[in-house]
Amino acid sequence: MTTRYYDAHCHLQDPRFGGTVEEILKACQDRGIQRLVVNGTRESDWDRVAELAERYPDLILPSYGLHPWWSRERSANWREDLEARLLANPRASIGETGLDRWMENPDPADQEEVLLAHLDLAERLNRPLSLHCLRAWGHLDAVLRAHPRPARGILLHSYGGPAEMVRPLADLGAYFSFAGYFLNPSQEKKRAAFQLVPEDRLLIESDAPDQVLPPELDEFSLIDPDTGKRLNHPGNLPVIYRHWPPADPERVEANFRSFFA
Ligand SMILES: [Zn+2]
Repeated sequence: MTTRYYDAHCHLQDPRFGGTVEEILKACQDRGIQRLVVNGTRESDWDRVAELAERYPDLILPSYGLHPWWSRERSANWREDLEARLLANPRASIGETGLDRWMENPDPADQEEVLLAHLDLAERLNRPLSLHCLRAWGHLDAVLRAHPRPARGILLHSYGGPAEMVRPLADLGAYFSFAGYFLNPSQEKKRAAFQLVPEDRLLIESDAPDQVLPPELDEFSLIDPDTGKRLNHPGNLPVIYRHWPPADPERVEANFRSFFA
Protein backbone atom coordinates (compact mmCIF):
# COMPACT_ATOMS: atom_id res chain seq x y z
CA MET A 1 0.00 0.00 0.00
CA THR A 2 1.28 3.46 -0.80
CA THR A 3 2.14 5.82 2.03
CA ARG A 4 -0.31 8.60 2.82
CA TYR A 5 1.01 12.06 3.71
CA TYR A 6 -0.67 15.04 5.39
CA ASP A 7 0.47 18.66 5.16
CA ALA A 8 -0.50 20.33 8.45
CA HIS A 9 0.32 23.86 7.27
CA CYS A 10 0.88 25.59 3.95
CA HIS A 11 -0.12 28.66 1.95
CA LEU A 12 -1.29 27.55 -1.49
CA GLN A 13 -3.20 30.82 -1.84
CA ASP A 14 0.12 32.68 -1.93
CA PRO A 15 0.37 34.78 -5.12
CA ARG A 16 3.96 33.58 -5.55
CA PHE A 17 2.49 30.28 -6.78
CA GLY A 18 0.87 32.21 -9.62
CA GLY A 19 -1.40 30.15 -11.82
CA THR A 20 0.37 26.86 -11.11
CA VAL A 21 -1.84 25.53 -8.27
CA GLU A 22 -3.46 22.90 -10.50
CA GLU A 23 -0.05 21.50 -11.44
CA ILE A 24 1.20 21.71 -7.86
CA LEU A 25 -1.75 19.73 -6.54
CA LYS A 26 -1.31 17.14 -9.27
CA ALA A 27 2.31 16.64 -8.16
CA CYS A 28 1.11 16.36 -4.53
CA GLN A 29 -1.45 13.70 -5.40
CA ASP A 30 1.10 11.75 -7.44
CA ARG A 31 3.24 11.60 -4.29
CA GLY A 32 0.48 10.35 -2.00
CA ILE A 33 -0.38 13.64 -0.28
CA GLN A 34 -3.94 13.29 1.00
CA ARG A 35 -4.71 16.63 2.61
CA LEU A 36 -3.22 20.10 2.81
CA VAL A 37 -4.31 22.63 5.40
CA VAL A 38 -4.20 25.98 3.58
CA ASN A 39 -3.76 28.87 6.01
CA GLY A 40 -5.02 32.36 5.24
CA THR A 41 -2.93 35.10 6.82
CA ARG A 42 -4.98 38.28 6.24
CA GLU A 43 -8.51 39.19 5.29
CA SER A 44 -7.51 39.90 1.70
CA ASP A 45 -6.50 36.27 1.09
CA TRP A 46 -9.44 34.54 2.79
CA ASP A 47 -11.56 34.50 -0.38
CA ARG A 48 -8.75 32.81 -2.28
CA VAL A 49 -8.42 30.17 0.47
CA ALA A 50 -12.18 29.54 0.34
CA GLU A 51 -12.10 29.27 -3.45
CA LEU A 52 -9.29 26.68 -3.38
CA ALA A 53 -11.12 24.64 -0.71
CA GLU A 54 -14.26 24.67 -2.83
CA ARG A 55 -12.44 23.70 -5.99
CA TYR A 56 -10.43 20.87 -4.37
CA PRO A 57 -12.66 19.65 -1.52
CA ASP A 58 -10.95 16.25 -1.29
CA LEU A 59 -7.49 17.75 -0.90
CA ILE A 60 -7.73 21.12 0.81
CA LEU A 61 -8.85 22.03 4.30
CA PRO A 62 -9.23 25.81 4.66
CA SER A 63 -8.02 27.82 7.63
CA TYR A 64 -8.60 31.52 8.26
CA GLY A 65 -6.64 33.86 10.46
CA LEU A 66 -4.65 37.05 10.86
CA HIS A 67 -0.88 36.55 10.92
CA PRO A 68 0.98 38.97 13.20
CA TRP A 69 2.84 40.38 10.18
CA TRP A 70 -0.46 41.54 8.69
CA SER A 71 -2.83 41.96 11.62
CA ARG A 72 -2.36 45.72 11.90
CA GLU A 73 -4.16 46.19 8.59
CA ARG A 74 -7.32 44.43 9.85
CA SER A 75 -10.78 45.85 9.27
CA ALA A 76 -13.26 46.78 11.98
CA ASN A 77 -15.42 43.69 11.42
CA TRP A 78 -12.75 41.04 10.87
CA ARG A 79 -13.99 38.96 13.81
CA GLU A 80 -17.51 38.74 12.46
CA ASP A 81 -16.20 37.81 9.02
CA LEU A 82 -13.97 35.11 10.52
CA GLU A 83 -16.75 33.65 12.63
CA ALA A 84 -19.17 33.65 9.69
CA ARG A 85 -16.66 31.70 7.56
CA LEU A 86 -16.19 29.15 10.32
CA LEU A 87 -19.91 28.70 10.88
CA ALA A 88 -20.44 28.33 7.13
CA ASN A 89 -17.88 25.52 6.90
CA PRO A 90 -17.55 22.95 9.69
CA ARG A 91 -14.27 21.75 8.12
CA ALA A 92 -12.61 25.16 8.43
CA SER A 93 -9.81 25.77 10.94
CA ILE A 94 -8.51 28.95 12.56
CA GLY A 95 -5.10 30.47 11.79
CA GLU A 96 -2.54 31.32 11.06
CA THR A 97 -2.20 33.73 13.93
CA GLY A 98 0.19 34.18 16.82
CA LEU A 99 2.95 36.27 18.36
CA ASP A 100 6.10 37.58 16.70
CA ARG A 101 8.90 39.63 18.23
CA TRP A 102 11.27 38.90 15.37
CA MET A 103 9.45 41.23 12.95
CA GLU A 104 10.26 44.93 12.73
CA ASN A 105 8.46 47.11 15.32
CA PRO A 106 6.30 44.43 16.89
CA ASP A 107 3.35 45.54 19.02
CA PRO A 108 2.99 42.71 21.58
CA ALA A 109 -0.18 44.10 23.18
CA ASP A 110 -1.94 44.38 19.85
CA GLN A 111 -0.73 40.92 18.79
CA GLU A 112 -2.08 39.50 22.03
CA GLU A 113 -5.47 41.10 21.47
CA VAL A 114 -5.70 39.53 18.01
CA LEU A 115 -4.47 36.16 19.27
CA LEU A 116 -7.04 36.16 22.08
CA ALA A 117 -9.87 36.77 19.62
CA HIS A 118 -8.75 33.69 17.61
CA LEU A 119 -8.27 31.63 20.77
CA ASP A 120 -11.72 32.54 22.04
CA LEU A 121 -13.34 31.47 18.76
CA ALA A 122 -11.32 28.24 18.66
CA GLU A 123 -12.41 27.41 22.19
CA ARG A 124 -16.09 28.27 21.65
CA LEU A 125 -16.33 26.36 18.36
CA ASN A 126 -13.70 23.75 19.28
CA ARG A 127 -11.88 24.24 15.96
CA PRO A 128 -8.23 23.52 15.18
CA LEU A 129 -6.07 26.59 15.84
CA SER A 130 -2.69 27.02 14.08
CA LEU A 131 -0.24 29.26 15.90
CA HIS A 132 2.85 31.04 14.68
CA CYS A 133 5.45 32.11 17.23
CA LEU A 134 8.83 33.75 16.77
CA ARG A 135 10.89 34.89 19.76
CA ALA A 136 7.80 35.18 21.95
CA TRP A 137 7.58 31.75 23.59
CA GLY A 138 7.31 33.02 27.16
CA HIS A 139 4.50 35.36 26.15
CA LEU A 140 2.66 32.66 24.21
CA ASP A 141 2.97 30.20 27.07
CA ALA A 142 1.55 32.78 29.51
CA VAL A 143 -1.38 33.58 27.20
CA LEU A 144 -2.23 29.91 26.68
CA ARG A 145 -2.08 29.16 30.41
CA ALA A 146 -4.28 32.11 31.32
CA HIS A 147 -7.15 31.44 28.88
CA PRO A 148 -9.55 28.65 27.96
CA ARG A 149 -8.22 26.56 25.08
CA PRO A 150 -10.03 24.38 22.53
CA ALA A 151 -10.69 20.88 23.87
CA ARG A 152 -9.09 19.30 20.78
CA GLY A 153 -5.75 21.11 21.43
CA ILE A 154 -3.77 23.64 19.40
CA LEU A 155 -1.06 23.42 16.76
CA LEU A 156 2.31 25.11 17.20
CA HIS A 157 3.24 25.24 13.54
CA SER A 158 6.94 25.00 12.72
CA TYR A 159 7.78 24.81 16.43
CA GLY A 160 11.06 26.63 17.05
CA GLY A 161 10.85 27.14 20.80
CA PRO A 162 13.12 25.77 23.51
CA ALA A 163 13.36 22.02 24.06
CA GLU A 164 12.43 22.39 27.72
CA MET A 165 9.07 23.93 26.78
CA VAL A 166 7.95 20.94 24.70
CA ARG A 167 6.62 18.89 27.61
CA PRO A 168 4.77 21.74 29.38
CA LEU A 169 3.23 22.87 26.06
CA ALA A 170 2.21 19.29 25.24
CA ASP A 171 0.52 19.17 28.67
CA LEU A 172 -1.49 22.24 27.60
CA GLY A 173 -2.74 20.28 24.59
CA ALA A 174 -0.20 21.33 21.95
CA TYR A 175 0.64 19.53 18.73
CA PHE A 176 3.94 20.41 17.02
CA SER A 177 4.52 20.44 13.27
CA PHE A 178 7.96 19.83 11.82
CA ALA A 179 8.95 21.88 8.75
CA GLY A 180 11.44 20.94 6.02
CA TYR A 181 13.59 23.96 6.74
CA PHE A 182 14.60 22.21 9.97
CA LEU A 183 16.48 19.65 7.88
CA ASN A 184 19.15 22.31 7.23
CA PRO A 185 22.37 21.52 9.14
CA SER A 186 22.10 24.88 10.98
CA GLN A 187 18.77 23.82 12.57
CA GLU A 188 20.21 21.21 14.94
CA LYS A 189 18.62 22.78 18.05
CA LYS A 190 15.14 22.58 16.54
CA ARG A 191 15.61 18.96 15.58
CA ALA A 192 16.77 18.26 19.16
CA ALA A 193 13.59 19.89 20.52
CA PHE A 194 11.45 17.76 18.18
CA GLN A 195 13.04 14.62 19.59
CA LEU A 196 11.09 15.41 22.76
CA VAL A 197 7.69 15.78 21.08
CA PRO A 198 5.33 13.00 22.24
CA GLU A 199 4.59 10.65 19.32
CA ASP A 200 0.86 11.37 19.50
CA ARG A 201 1.49 15.12 19.03
CA LEU A 202 3.75 15.15 15.98
CA LEU A 203 2.58 16.61 12.66
CA ILE A 204 4.54 17.44 9.50
CA GLU A 205 4.16 20.55 7.34
CA SER A 206 5.58 22.09 4.19
CA ASP A 207 4.72 25.75 4.98
CA ALA A 208 5.08 26.11 1.20
CA PRO A 209 5.98 28.42 -0.48
CA ASP A 210 8.15 29.29 2.55
CA GLN A 211 10.70 27.26 4.53
CA VAL A 212 12.63 25.82 1.60
CA LEU A 213 14.42 22.53 2.11
CA PRO A 214 18.21 22.21 1.81
CA PRO A 215 18.87 22.43 -1.98
CA GLU A 216 20.07 18.81 -2.23
CA LEU A 217 16.73 17.54 -0.83
CA ASP A 218 14.43 19.84 -2.80
CA GLU A 219 12.74 17.81 -5.55
CA PHE A 220 11.23 20.77 -7.39
CA SER A 221 13.54 23.83 -7.52
CA LEU A 222 10.61 26.25 -7.80
CA ILE A 223 11.74 29.83 -8.33
CA ASP A 224 9.78 33.01 -7.64
CA PRO A 225 9.80 34.73 -11.04
CA ASP A 226 9.64 38.17 -9.43
CA THR A 227 12.56 37.85 -7.02
CA GLY A 228 14.57 34.90 -8.35
CA LYS A 229 14.41 33.37 -4.85
CA ARG A 230 13.76 29.68 -4.20
CA LEU A 231 10.23 28.68 -3.22
CA ASN A 232 9.13 25.57 -1.41
CA HIS A 233 6.76 23.13 -3.16
CA PRO A 234 4.27 21.21 -0.98
CA GLY A 235 5.15 18.09 -3.00
CA ASN A 236 8.36 18.03 -0.94
CA LEU A 237 6.30 16.79 2.02
CA PRO A 238 7.25 13.07 1.62
CA VAL A 239 10.93 14.11 1.57
CA ILE A 240 10.43 15.79 4.94
CA TYR A 241 8.80 12.66 6.35
CA ARG A 242 11.63 10.48 5.05
CA HIS A 243 14.42 12.67 6.44
CA TRP A 244 12.82 13.10 9.84
CA PRO A 245 13.01 9.55 11.17
CA PRO A 246 10.61 10.00 14.16
CA ALA A 247 7.84 10.66 11.60
CA ASP A 248 6.01 7.36 11.27
CA PRO A 249 3.45 8.08 8.52
CA GLU A 250 0.68 6.04 10.15
CA ARG A 251 1.16 7.76 13.48
CA VAL A 252 1.21 11.20 11.82
CA GLU A 253 -1.93 10.31 9.88
CA ALA A 254 -3.72 9.38 13.12
CA ASN A 255 -2.55 12.63 14.75
CA PHE A 256 -3.68 14.67 11.75
CA ARG A 257 -7.06 13.01 11.75
CA SER A 258 -7.66 13.50 15.44
CA PHE A 259 -6.58 17.16 15.41
CA PHE A 260 -8.17 18.31 12.12
CA ALA A 261 -11.14 15.92 12.12
ZN1 LIG B 1 2.63 29.79 7.69
